[in-house]
Amino acid sequence: MNQSNKKNLEFIRNSGVNYFLQDTPINWFENTLNSSFHPSISTNDEKYSKIQEIIKKIKTFNSPLSKTAKNLVVYDGNLDSKVMFIGEAPGRDEDRLGLPFVGRAGQLLNKMLAAINLRREEVYITNVVNWRPPDNRTPSDQEILDFLPFLQEQIDVVNPDFIFLLGSIAAKAILSTPLTLGKLRGSWHTYKSLKLNKNIYTIASYHPAFLLRSPQYKKSSWEDLQMLQKKLNEKN
Ligand code: URA
Repeated sequence: MNQSNKKNLEFIRNSGVNYFLQDTPINWFENTLNSSFHPSISTNDEKYSKIQEIIKKIKTFNSPLSKTAKNLVVYDGNLDSKVMFIGEAPGRDEDRLGLPFVGRAGQLLNKMLAAINLRREEVYITNVVNWRPPDNRTPSDQEILDFLPFLQEQIDVVNPDFIFLLGSIAAKAILSTPLTLGKLRGSWHTYKSLKLNKNIYTIASYHPAFLLRSPQYKKSSWEDLQMLQKKLNEKN
């Protein structure tokens, strides 16, 4: 893309135009129902194209999960964010809309973010596995390993200062530890990016879907979110 095309595209994006004519039809009615969720647009062209490359690689990888899923789900939010939230795998709503955390768990995640003065558009949201496992089953160790390089590459592109792991699958993938969330939560861990040569502050806490089923853990989740908020405030 030449410089003037880039500038035009940036201008159009900044004017609030998020869609161009596409090969596949957009169900506007369905999207209106979920109007709190917008596919993110970044003004950082370099990061944007690197993420598009990763998306291409995930498609080319041809996971068996892609045979049963409807849509690839990679990320939502802000490519320039200093905070990255990582969940497990898309569920039914995410599979339908091609965006992470847009179902009931996503609604709760939005509320959790709001509780620490963050908006969905300000953070980068992704999952360990990018295709929906059949019947929402837990991803296997092999599936986690298959998708881990793509997740690590996203971390290297986004270059966050903080990672918030939602649930035990994300904790297993990123912290490669057998410890339970009960043991891991409540303290800071580090994720080392070899490419960035950087230790990233990482916290592991409960998955919003688990919190919906077991609201008694919301207090601990709130404490973990406050740890993140404190660190973010220290940075600013
Ligand atoms: N659960 C997840 O782990 N990720 C999603 O995107 C939705 C539900």
